[in-house]
Amino acid sequence: MASNKKLLVLPGDGIGPEVVRETLRVVDWMAKKRSVSFDVQEGLVGGAAYDASGTPLTDETLADAVDADAVLFGAVGGPKYDDLPFEKKPERGLLRLRKEMDLFANLRPAMVFASMADNSSLKRDLVAGLDIMILRELTGGVYFCEPRGIEDLPGGGKRGFDTQAYSTPEIERIGRVAFDLARKRRNKVTSVEKANVMMSGVLWRQVMTDLHKREGEGLEYENMYADNCAMQLVRNPKQFDVIVTDNLFGDILSDCAAMLTGSLGMLPSASLGAEDPTTGRRHALYEPVHGSAPDIAGRGIANPIAELLSFAMLLRYSFDMGEDADLVEKAIDNVLSSGLRTADIMQEGKAKVSTGVMTDSILKELDKLV
Ligand code: ATP
Ligand code: MG
Repeated sequence: MASNKKLLVLPGDGIGPEVVRETLRVVDWMAKKRSVSFDVQEGLVGGAAYDASGTPLTDETLADAVDADAVLFGAVGGPKYDDLPFEKKPERGLLRLRKEMDLFANLRPAMVFASMADNSSLKRDLVAGLDIMILRELTGGVYFCEPRGIEDLPGGGKRGFDTQAYSTPEIERIGRVAFDLARKRRNKVTSVEKANVMMSGVLWRQVMTDLHKREGEGLEYENMYADNCAMQLVRNPKQFDVIVTDNLFGDILSDCAAMLTGSLGMLPSASLGAEDPTTGRRHALYEPVHGSAPDIAGRGIANPIAELLSFAMLLRYSFDMGEDADLVEKAIDNVLSSGLRTADIMQEGKAKVSTGVMTDSILKELDKLV
């Protein structure tokens, strides 16, 4: 079992500290009941850091994040900070973390617990028990490539243009993450591009297919065009395990997959960086997909499940504690099946509970499971 794993906790603003506090109760539970020792350190980020030190992320906190085995992040931002200059905005704290830790791989799972399947926009049997992972390349592609711009045309009017480019190393490093993930899941990888119309897609397909031949032993592998993938996600999402794709297609497909689950307060995410060749360690930051939700902050009604599931991902992907991650997910599944709901996922005939009571129940369920 893992021991003395360095965990940096950055609660941030709004409901961030509320859901992180609940997650730390599960961290404590792990320490007591599973005898794993975490070295937990807390820091400030976003508006909270700005209030304390005039910057959304201090150099010290950044250094702690780089040094940690994993970062558990809450959320940043809020109306109080709307008028700050661009460089001081809470969101800059998160963007700086992503950039300095070179977090090039964005993991967005779409999971549907059986008892939540009616929240989906799809029919219940299409999504009940769904568990897929969209892996999005986050630091390359059309979001960052030059040249780009808007130019004047000689005859009047303008022309806007962008560049999409991916290099072999960029494709290989995200491909390796996909293979690693699939090995901790159901051993299937779908690589998505548009090799029928884009040269970057042609290279992507070639490099991924070769990588699979060289390093993908034991993994089922397929190539798929992005438009077909969008269609298949809505037609039959359970056919997928890990979908790996570029920055732009990943943006679109992960939002599409998120809506299969139908609930923002339930969606975790992770961002992973390059592996250190000597230690084999990877920078990693785990956070809920939702924001700081200023409209409900301080009322004790936020859904803690997205943050708890982010912690489960942290256990699985950074600390190699897949069994413990399964436990957390199973406990959440059971509590939802028993009919408890926070306000955001409330359904007729269910019992509405606060943030704290939801976590109490998950902890009780964890006790039962071990
Ligand atoms: P961002 O900070 O990324 O801009 P946003 O403003 O788009 O985020 P959120 O802050 O996530 O969105 O909030 C969107 C809506 O979802 C709000 O009404 C918020 O109350 C609700 N919401 C978000 N997360 C949760 C949660 N964990 N529990 C309950 N409700 C939530
Ligand atoms: Mg917001």
